[in-house]
Amino acid sequence: MEKNDAASKTSKKGKNIALVSGGIDDAYLSPFVQAFISKCAEYDFHVLWFQSLANEYKDTPYDKGEINIYDLINFDRVDALVVLAMFMKSEVKTKELIAKAKNKGLPIIIIDGEDDGAYSLSLEYRNAFEKIVRHVITEHNAKNIKFLGGEKGNDVSDERESVFRNVMAEYDLPVTDDNVDYAYFWWASASDAVQRHYDKFGSMPDAFICANDSMAVGVCMKLAELGYEVPKDVIVTGIDGIAEGNTFFPSITTIMCDYTGAGEKAAVRLSEIFSGKLPKVGSETVEGSVLFRESCGCEPINRSATDNLLKHELYNQIDLWNGFSDSIIKISETATGSFSFRETLEKIKLFLTDIWTKECWLCICDNFISENGEDADHYDNYRREGYDPLMKYVIHGLNDKYFDIVNPFRTEEMIPNLDEALDQLGNIMFLPLHFQDRCIGYIGIEFTLTGRNFHILYSLLTNISNVLENARIMHEMRTVLNRLEDMYIKDPMTGLYNRRGFYRSAPDIYERCIAEKKEFMVLSIDLDGLKGINDTFGHQEGDNAIITIAKALEAVSGGKEIVARFGGDEYIAAGMCSDPDDAEDFVKRFREYLDEYNENSGKDYIVEASCGIVKDIPSEGETIDHFIKRSDELMYAQKSTRRKYRGYCRRKDRVYNAPDAPAENK
Ligand code: GH3
Ligand code: MG
Repeated sequence: MEKNDAASKTSKKGKNIALVSGGIDDAYLSPFVQAFISKCAEYDFHVLWFQSLANEYKDTPYDKGEINIYDLINFDRVDALVVLAMFMKSEVKTKELIAKAKNKGLPIIIIDGEDDGAYSLSLEYRNAFEKIVRHVITEHNAKNIKFLGGEKGNDVSDERESVFRNVMAEYDLPVTDDNVDYAYFWWASASDAVQRHYDKFGSMPDAFICANDSMAVGVCMKLAELGYEVPKDVIVTGIDGIAEGNTFFPSITTIMCDYTGAGEKAAVRLSEIFSGKLPKVGSETVEGSVLFRESCGCEPINRSATDNLLKHELYNQIDLWNGFSDSIIKISETATGSFSFRETLEKIKLFLTDIWTKECWLCICDNFISENGEDADHYDNYRREGYDPLMKYVIHGLNDKYFDIVNPFRTEEMIPNLDEALDQLGNIMFLPLHFQDRCIGYIGIEFTLTGRNFHILYSLLTNISNVLENARIMHEMRTVLNRLEDMYIKDPMTGLYNRRGFYRSAPDIYERCIAEKKEFMVLSIDLDGLKGINDTFGHQEGDNAIITIAKALEAVSGGKEIVARFGGDEYIAAGMCSDPDDAEDFVKRFREYLDEYNENSGKDYIVEASCGIVKDIPSEGETIDHFIKRSDELMYAQKSTRRKYRGYCRRKDRVYNAPDAPAENK
């Protein structure tokens, strides 16, 4: 609907009406909603329309994701509930919503449903159907009439058949097995039924009364194929009033529930309930009407008058769809190639700018994605029912095609500054964004029923949801991969590179030393007397010694040199010398770190290590491993001299040896 003037003229604040419905086929829904919101505007009612697009509810994860949209309703922010029961696909959810509204003492209007706390408007078509059967008999003089039902045993079809039989009985017209046949509720199956009839009788009845319009269309097509003219040779009628019944040649005489009347009445009754003129609980029926058209002979067939209009309308539809499917492809093309979630949002923003002409909010739940990747188990923690208290990522599109990522807001508001938005727009429609039963968020839109149908919305929302889910999976995958990569190249105990990590990074520096003719330095470090610490103080203290050396090396290198734990208590540091004394300085500062540690550790053992240093401009054919081999040798040489004087392991006040220490150290 275009911005409604009645609502925008008043400053504030009309009643907020929550309207709930479902399904993708909007042929009947649109007349209801159109009439309802137009009437509501007269009373300064704002409509918040919550629509799931699942066409039937089978309790699948996908369906659950769709009907989750109803959980968005904040019953503290609405003044009444209107339930389109015949379009709600989940009875359980319908009951739940009614219970919530009742709990808040809100007026409830149910269209085509009942509840002891609600005012119900039942859509009645029985009388209209009786009328159509009588009409065929009395006005068109048909006697041999065949009823073509939907599946036998189907409630709707059985009810229609019983009306047919009753009216036939009124006029003493016999109904034998030959006067009733069944087909599925669609055109091709009805065509088959006509063929069946022809094969059996070689002739046609005066009229086919069909259980719906699609079947009536199928009957007309088969009759034409068999050389019969409708309505000259055979009269055909339908039920439902679908759009195709009106545009088909001949247009189908049919009956229709009065959705427009029901929409208007719902708004009127609400205003009466609000003003106390009408009790909250009650019921009434809204009668259906008969549409007399060409297929019974009540309207002259005038093909040329409507032919062009029809073609024009169809081509318009095709154009709309083509344009739209281009946009849908574009979003998949652009947004799925994003590197980060933020970039995906930016691309969706651009995409929406291209296709959306009305105000809208695309809202994404707080916990949909953990951007800093701190939560590795995030995947299984996502919300399946209801919405997070915060909508964290919000793309807001204004009229005039301005889209932006705006501040998070509390979900209970439903839309940022709800009252203001409703004052401006009159009505807002809410549709779910989800991947299976994973709740992504929702879209709130200023809605228009003209020029945009639910199938288009459905495909738009599914695509946006898929793009977002894709971005989330990529993000989670990158986080996990980074973690795996870390595990692969890092030593978990110290956080230093392991041997693999070292060999990933060191060659670059080595190559640079070759290229720049700079000295490459390698330090081999091995903890002194770790066995002694392990055996005397326990493995945990041994671990502490290993970690202490790692911390010392990290602190001294400050990220300049590559530091790795090569094995048990062996470490390598490697880097480029920018000063001649770099390597010696490194060892000096390393020993100072350990001295300070030992001074303050409060431990009964000291942590010390032997070091071997090699620094050289790499010569032709020399490798990093040659450097390591040489520095290892120097380290071992140092260790043997240190061992001679100091033993494997010392207490602070005395030498304390491992049990297998050489005799001279004891
Ligand atoms: P040295 O002074 O000659 O270096 O002798 P050491 O006692 O330090 O023993 P050496 O370097 O020959 O062997 C290292 C010992 O460290 C062997 C093993 O029992 C122990 N070790 C290896 N990895 C770990 C570890 O992760 N934690 C602990 N607590 N001990 C380890
Ligand atoms: Mg050692």
